[in-house]
Amino acid sequence: MEPRKTTGQRSPQQLLRDTISQYAEGDLSISFSGAEDVILIDMVAQMGLTVDIFTLDTGRLHPETYEFIEQVRSHYGFSIDLLMPTPSDVAKLVKEKGLYSFYKDGHGECCSIRKIEPLKTKLESLDAWITGQRKDQSVTRTNLTQVQEDKAFSTENHKITKYNPLADWSLSQVWQYIRENNVPYNKLHDNGYVSIGCEPCTRPITPNQHERAGRWWWEEQTQRECGLHAQNVIKIVS
Ligand code: SF4
Repeated sequence: MEPRKTTGQRSPQQLLRDTISQYAEGDLSISFSGAEDVILIDMVAQMGLTVDIFTLDTGRLHPETYEFIEQVRSHYGFSIDLLMPTPSDVAKLVKEKGLYSFYKDGHGECCSIRKIEPLKTKLESLDAWITGQRKDQSVTRTNLTQVQEDKAFSTENHKITKYNPLADWSLSQVWQYIRENNVPYNKLHDNGYVSIGCEPCTRPITPNQHERAGRWWWEEQTQRECGLHAQNVIKIVS
């Protein structure tokens, strides 16, 4: 498939190629969870390149999502690093507040333990990461650029760069690519799920709803980031 160019931007393939060549092995990784992320993995494979891949195993994913992770691993032959939360932190939260505290307290505390802390630890060992974020996924992502400093996880002594090769893609472009290239996808997509996170915090949506309407649906729209991309929330509330 020909690279899809976007105005004034590098094609996703070109950005991936340039980025992978720029970093030493172990300094750069793709964050994998959704349909967009597998497109990035597919593009890397089609170009004959390799890259480190990680995914966040929160312990609350759907069975279909675990099957999907395994399918991607076997389809491409790439290793996938599963990042898990610290067991004692999870045990403390569950003991004190139960298994569903996020419905009452908001998702911040649980996401912090199950996603942010493992990600933070991983990013301490990286100089850059690649995500499948798109501008039109959410009101929190409208200012997304293909390359940005990760202001949520950079420190004074350790700057981290975030690459978003699909920043300008639409959802329909994503699914066109998946169909044309026989890219593996999460079977939950066949049951009305569009954006897929943890099982208790994701539900299917109707055709007229925004694609992320099924994520943390009980919370205010501008706060629906799990902290992985926290700078998107900072932008919209400041
Ligand atoms: S998405 Fe829900 S279950 Fe998953 S880490 Fe966040 S609050 Fe917890």
